Amino acid sequence: MLEKVVIANRGEIALRILRACRDMDIKTVAVHSEADRDLMHVGMADESVCIGPAASTESYLNIPAIISAAEVTDATAIHPGYGFLSENAEFAEVVESSGFIFIGPKSETIRMMGDKIAAKRAMEAAGVPCVPGTAEPIGDDMNRAKQLAQEIGFPVMVKAAGGGGGRGMRVVHREDELSEAISLTKTEAGAAFNDDRLFMEKFLEAPRHVEFQVLADTHGNAIHLCERDCSMQRRNQKVIEEAPAFGITTKQREEIGARITEACRQIGYRGAGTFEFLYANGEFYFIEMNTRVQVEHPVTEMITGIDIVKQQLLIAAGEKLAFAQDDIKIRGHAIECRINAEDPYKFIPCPGKVSHFHCPGGPGIRVDTHLYNGYNVPPYYDSMIGKLLAIGHSREGALTRMRGALHEIVIDGITTKIPLRQDLMVDDAFVTAKHNIHYLESKLS
Ligand code: ADP
Repeated sequence: MLEKVVIANRGEIALRILRACRDMDIKTVAVHSEADRDLMHVGMADESVCIGPAASTESYLNIPAIISAAEVTDATAIHPGYGFLSENAEFAEVVESSGFIFIGPKSETIRMMGDKIAAKRAMEAAGVPCVPGTAEPIGDDMNRAKQLAQEIGFPVMVKAAGGGGGRGMRVVHREDELSEAISLTKTEAGAAFNDDRLFMEKFLEAPRHVEFQVLADTHGNAIHLCERDCSMQRRNQKVIEEAPAFGITTKQREEIGARITEACRQIGYRGAGTFEFLYANGEFYFIEMNTRVQVEHPVTEMITGIDIVKQQLLIAAGEKLAFAQDDIKIRGHAIECRINAEDPYKFIPCPGKVSHFHCPGGPGIRVDTHLYNGYNVPPYYDSMIGKLLAIGHSREGALTRMRGALHEIVIDGITTKIPLRQDLMVDDAFVTAKHNIHYLESKLS
């Protein structure tokens, strides 16, 4: 088993990883920026190391500082969480070449999946259905680009091969808009991702976002933990997630599940991962794979009873998966609301001091947060301060519990997204599960 794990992240996910380690008797090292000395998990970890100033480029993205922290604390492994360096192939490579275990896939898998063109090619080869699009990067020949767009059929989406975080993509409705869209996306992608390669795919007009959670060990075993629906989005970023996805049949789940677990075996996948699909007219279309734990992983934990972070640690320690596909059973329906320190309707970050925090509870409620009374939400990082989850026997049961928990939760001193989440829990389209990925944007506008 792993002896000591460096938690190379902050906030709620750092606390989540610490709790999984504690359950397994693994020692923990919290690495933190100067602005994050007061984070809850920093106080709870066996050891802590300050790795730099507030700016994440100098702390949570500072590879040498994190490796040094692992060296001085004599750690065994590094867990990257989500965001920051979690999908940075170079980081995974340096971690392993420095003699530590990277809790995640091999660096070459991260590199391949970080390149959306290579990822789609690998998935097509493995028989996973993909969004129709170009198999090669778009070159400088605009006539060729127009021809490709016509073959795909307008509207198309121009996407950055190295894109992430909902950025680096643009919808093009007409041929005369194509060349400007390509040039703008290329410039943006070069600046944001240091990779200006673009590709094109069909823009699906009203799909849902349905993703599958997988676990794969180093002994050739791969299983899936069913799917999640993450269609409630703003600016291509998830806002509410749920599991299982409404309306997906057991047959569909088994078919896609068989293809993605086979793909995991083919590419030698290791650890937890997510296959993201757009779902339209009863068909699944692969868009990308995330090679890390997702923000929304707890909804899957709630309906399957499997601790995904613990599984990541066991797989990294070389253990075999303790269950087969047939052992995975869905019980109930779970919903997650992301809670952000942001103005609910103006979307402006609202950091500051939490003067009073009351955490809701009761049967079927889970709260993953690093908040406490008196905690100061710093302005330097992502505005997400926690996740509120509810499980019920049915979707309606989960919704009822979520409404109650959103009513009960108190976060005074800062402005949060809670009022918008309350609105969505009684929104007709959401309650009747008729929303798609564009619904929230149109509701807000
Ligand atoms: P990122 O890596 O930035 O998260 P993704 O490729 O996962 O980008 O896409 C994020 C979101 O963008 C999707 O959940 C979906 O809402 C939207 N999107 C991506 N590709 C398409 C497409 N071809 N058609 C319609 N919407 C898309």
